[in-house]
Amino acid sequence: MNHRLSHPSSVIIVGGGTAGWMCAAYLAKQWGADTQITLIESSQIGTVGVGEGSTPFLKQFFADLGWQEQDWMPDCDATYKTGIEFANWTNSQRFSQYFHPFFTPLDQQTGELFFDSCQQLRSGRANADVKPEHYFCAAEMVRKQVTPQSTKLPGDIDYAYHFDASKLALSLKSFSKKLGVKHREGKVAEVYTDKGNISGLQMEQGDVLNADLYVDCSGFVGLLMKKALNAPFKSYRETLFNDAAVAVPTQHMSNEAIAPQTRSVGMDNGWMWQIPLTSRIGNGYVYSSDFCSADDAEAALRKALNVDDSVPARHLKMQVGRLEQHWQGNCVAIGLAQGFIEPLEATALMLVQYALYQLIEGVGSGKPLASAQQAYNQEMNRMFDGIRDYIAAHYYLNTRTDTAYWQACRHDMKVPENLQYLLDKWDSGACFETALDHLDSELVYLRPSWYCILAGMGRFNHLDANQKVPVHQSSLAHLDKLTAHYFSTQQRPSTW
Ligand SMILES: Cc1cc2nc3c(=O)[nH]c(=O)nc-3n(C[C@H](O)[C@H](O)[C@H](O)COP(=O)(O)OP(=O)(O)OC[C@H]3O[C@@H](n4cnc5c(N)ncnc54)[C@H](O)[C@@H]3O)c2cc1C
Repeated sequence: MNHRLSHPSSVIIVGGGTAGWMCAAYLAKQWGADTQITLIESSQIGTVGVGEGSTPFLKQFFADLGWQEQDWMPDCDATYKTGIEFANWTNSQRFSQYFHPFFTPLDQQTGELFFDSCQQLRSGRANADVKPEHYFCAAEMVRKQVTPQSTKLPGDIDYAYHFDASKLALSLKSFSKKLGVKHREGKVAEVYTDKGNISGLQMEQGDVLNADLYVDCSGFVGLLMKKALNAPFKSYRETLFNDAAVAVPTQHMSNEAIAPQTRSVGMDNGWMWQIPLTSRIGNGYVYSSDFCSADDAEAALRKALNVDDSVPARHLKMQVGRLEQHWQGNCVAIGLAQGFIEPLEATALMLVQYALYQLIEGVGSGKPLASAQQAYNQEMNRMFDGIRDYIAAHYYLNTRTDTAYWQACRHDMKVPENLQYLLDKWDSGACFETALDHLDSELVYLRPSWYCILAGMGRFNHLDANQKVPVHQSSLAHLDKLTAHYFSTQQRPSTW
C-alpha cells in the first residue's frame, strides 16, 4: 500500500457513458503508449445520455485533447452558453428572474460596480434594483444574440457549451480508439476483490480481465466501488430533495435565434431546463418524487412546453450524493459512479474533468499511494460539497409559497454549514467580503456567483419584494457603452 506511485501499465475503464469516454480519451492522451487502456461497455445497459450543458472549464478539456471547436461542435449539435437564466424561483415580481453569467475580464469594471450596488441595497443606502444581467458582458451577449466567438472582447472569455451528450460520447469514443484505446462490448457479470483491491472482472462471455488500475465509470450502479468494494456513500438527500427527472425534446421555431444561455424555470415541484442545441431544444423537469409522481411530472412538463404524447418522454432516476472515498485500493470512481449533485448548474462533467486532472497529478506526484489517495479524496470531497452548497442556496433562498415542495425546500432542508455561515453574515449586515475570504479555501463558487444569487433572488430582507422600483439604468447604460465597441449587433445564431 505504501509503494511509490508510477503510471499503471494497464487500465480498465468500466462504462462507456460520457464519463467513461472522457476518461479513455484523457488518460490515453496523458499516458500514451506506456499504458494499455481498455474500455468495457454494455449496450444492454445503455447510458444516461442526458447532460447537455457544461461550465467554462470544459474548454480546457478540449484544448488538452488538442480539439478545436470546429472539430467537435458541428458533430455534437453544439451551441455556446454564456450563463443560466433563472425564472420563477421566487414569489415576487421584483425578483422573478435573474441571470447567472460566466465572467470575462471586462467584467472587472462593471463587476465592482455590481458588488458595491449590492452592498448599498443590502445596507439600505439605495433602493434601485441591482440585477446581475445589468452588469456582466455575458448577459449583454444574450440580449444582443451574439456568440462569444463573434465578439472582440479583450482577454480570455469564459464561456461554455450545450451539446448532444450521446453524440459527444461518440466523438470521444472515435478519438480514443484512434489513440489505441481498446473497446470491449459486453457485460461485467462479476467483480472479484482481494483485500480492498479489484482482482479481476468476469465478463458475461466467460473470460476474466485484469489491470493495474480500474476506473469505475459504470454510472449510478457503482459496480466496482459501491457494489464490489462496499465504498460508503454520503447522500445529499437531506439537503437536495430532487431525485428524478423527465426529458422531452422540442423543435426550434423557424427563424428563432438561438440564445446562448440555458434556462432554468421553477415548476411546482422542481425546475425545468431548456437547452438550445442546433438540432433541437433539450427540455427536462427535475423534481422530487416525494412531492410529485412521474406521471404528474411528465404531464406538467408537456403542459409547460405545449407538447402532446406523440413526442416520447424519457424518465430518469437520480442518486444525489458522493462517495466518501473516490480512489481506494487499485480503483478510482469517476462520473455518476462517484457521485452526482443535480444538473442545476451543469457541473457533472466538470467534476469528471477535475477528477481526471487530480488523478493524473496524484499518480505523477511520486508520493506513496496512501498519501496520494488521501489528498485526492479530500480534494474531490471539497469540490462536491462546495458545489452542493451553491446548488442548495438556490432552493433555500426561494420565496415561493404556492406548493409544499418550495416551502419544504426553505423549512426542511438541512442547510450546509458554509451556506448558513454566508447567509448569516449577509443577513446581519456584516462585511460580506470578509465572510467570503474566511471560507476562501473551501468555496468552489466564488465572489461574483454568490453576489449574483443573493441579489438575483432578492435576499434583501428589509425590502418589499413586490414594490415596483426603477431599474438601475445607469448600470445598463454603462454596460451598453462598454460593450458597444466589442459587440456586433447583427443577429447571429449562437452556434460555432
Ligand atoms: C437528468 C439529468 C440531467 C443532467 N444534466 C447534466 C448537465 O446538464 N451537465 C452535466 O455536466 N451533466 C449532467 N448530467 C450528468 C451527466 O448525464 C453524467 O455525468 C454523464 O452522462 C456521465 O454519466 P456516466 O458516464 O457516469 O454514466 P452513464 O451514462 O450511466 O454510463 C454508465 C456506463 O456503464 C456501463 N455499465 C454499467 N454496468 C455495466 C456492466 N455490468 N457491464 C458493462 N458495462 C456496464 C453502461 O453500459 C454505460 O456505458 C445530468 C444527469 C441527469 C440524470
